[in-house]
This record gives sequence, C-alpha cells and structure tokens, in this order.
Amino acid sequence: MTTIAFIGLGHMGNPMAANLVRAGHTVLGFDLLPENLNVAKGHGVTIMASAEAAVVDADVVITMLPAGKHVLSVYHSVAKGTKAGALFIDSSTIDVESARKAHEIAQANGLKSVDAPVSGGIGGAAAGTLTFMVGGSAEAFAKAEPILKPMAGRIVHCGEAGNGQAAKICNNMILGISMIGVSEAFTLAEKLGLSHQALFDVASTSSGQCWSLTTYCPVPGPVATSPANNGYKPGFAAALMLKDLKLSQEAAASVGAATPLGAHAESLYAAFNSAGNEGSDFSGIVNFLRESNRD
Ligand code: NAD
Repeated sequence: MTTIAFIGLGHMGNPMAANLVRAGHTVLGFDLLPENLNVAKGHGVTIMASAEAAVVDADVVITMLPAGKHVLSVYHSVAKGTKAGALFIDSSTIDVESARKAHEIAQANGLKSVDAPVSGGIGGAAAGTLTFMVGGSAEAFAKAEPILKPMAGRIVHCGEAGNGQAAKICNNMILGISMIGVSEAFTLAEKLGLSHQALFDVASTSSGQCWSLTTYCPVPGPVATSPANNGYKPGFAAALMLKDLKLSQEAAASVGAATPLGAHAESLYAAFNSAGNEGSDFSGIVNFLRESNRD
C-alpha cells in the first residue's frame, strides 16, 4: 500500500481521497478550508498542517485544485520537499500551458508526473467511477494507473505531458456545444407543436442521438435521472461548463485552431452565468434559450 498526499479536498477531492483510504492506502490530506478537512477526517484521511508537511513522507502527491495558478503555486512550494522519484498526479481541470509547466517543475526536481483530469463529476468521484484522461510518459502512466484505479471507471493514456488536459477540454467543448444543440431542438419543437417525448423518441434512436439528449436530457420527462427533473440542481454547474469552454478557447487561440461553435458556446454560457445561473446545472441553458424566443 502507498502513502499518498492529497492536496485539495473539495467537492471532488474529498470523495476521491475517501476511495483511496477504502483501497487501503495511507492518505495525508491538506486543504485551506477547515470544514473540508473535517469531512476528510471523517473519511479516514490523516489531516496535515500544510501541503509541505503532507508531501514529506509521500510516494504519490495528488492535487485537486480550482485552476492552473493554484496547481503551480502548490507545485512550487512542495516539489523540493518531496521524496526523490515520487509521482505527482494533478487531477484538476487546468489550462494546457500550466499543466505543461507543472510537469517541468516536477521534472526539474527529479519527480515523475502526470496530468490526469477527470470526467464524471461528484457522483463519479463518490462511486469511484471517474474517467481519467492521462498525459505523461509511459513510465509515469504505468506508476499512476494502479493509484488511480480505486477512483476510476476508466483510465485512458492520452499521450505526453498536457494531453490529458487537452482531451478534457476537447471533450467538454463537444459537451457544451451538443447541450446547446439539443436545447435548441427542444425549444424549436415546442414552437412547432411537437412534444418533448415525441422528439426524444425519434432523436434518441436517430442521427441526433448524443449524451446530452439520452443521458442528460435538458427538459423534464424523457430521462428520469437528468437534472431537469430535479430543478436543475447540479450535476455539473454552469460555472464549471463556462470554465472549461474558456479553457478550450484559450487553447484554440494559442495554437490557431478555428472553433467557431466552441466560441459561440462560450459566449452563450457566459450570458447564462451572468443571468445568475452559475450554480444551476449547465443543462438549464434550455430555459435561457427559450426565454430568447420571439413570440
Ligand atoms: P472545490 O472548489 O470544491 O475544491 C477545490 C479545493 O481546493 C477547495 O476545497 C479549496 O479550499 C482547495 N484549495 C485551493 N487552493 C489550495 C491550496 N493552495 N492548498 C490546498 N487546498 C487548496 O472544487 P471541485 O469541484 O472539487 O473541483 C476541483 C477541480 O476538479 C477543478 O479544477 C474542477 O474544474 C475539476 N472538476 C470538477 C468537477 C465537478 O463536478 N465539481 C468535475 C470534473 C472536474
């Protein structure tokens, strides 16, 4: 069993750390928020006084933090005090450039590293069924895989440093665009006198089929488990969708990729968030689009 430092015990980090404890690992945890530390303690995580203290005896260091600046700041402060040859796993969703800088910091200090962002949300974190998209050398991936297993439903090696983050933002750009597409189809159907169920029955078995329709249907009714049936409680908050779309557009600009629908999805989600919906599920954009309908 392995000694793992876990930095960032929020909505995602806490249930992920709990699954590592359940798998028999010793987990040394740190977060800036005392209330999150208390929850972690209840899961059997040993609470440490700082990130620096958490890494001293660790063979693996996992970070689950809000953004690239937090990850780089933690890497800068702990890399020198970590055991030689230890493995750093960053599972936060961050920009590709910061992810590659994080790998450089690890490498310069004789550490192995992978970027390993996740898909599956808080439910997947609790159930241990997250999809991990991993970037890094084959050697670092081989070391990371058994550590990720108790938290994972699927683990995909996406290539070299930063490619896990690249896969994550490309996937979520598809998701943002497809959710808007499905939502527009439902609001158009309403205007045409076509019922939600009839559109669902046709599109879910036709060429319009996609995850945003069949698993996460944005209107109440056709898919009982979708947030639309639960007052659009997240799920996946609109603020996080906007974050990921912004990351996709920063990445697109940095390499000169044309992503016109990604750009439009970002601006629609920015307007949806500004209208006070940051805490709503991202599928609630269907109601925002409906309000824009001309009578
Ligand atoms: P969160 O805000 O609940 O958790 C982040 C935690 O990091 C907080 O508890 C915060 O106190 C802590 N933190 C910040 N700076 C720190 C520092 N310097 N040292 C120690 N702790 C520090 O966020 P979350 O929902 O758990 O998301 C974490 C990451 O996972 C984000 O990058 C997010 O985009 C990504 N993500 C979230 C979801 C989701 O559904 N929530 C899904 C996939 C990916």
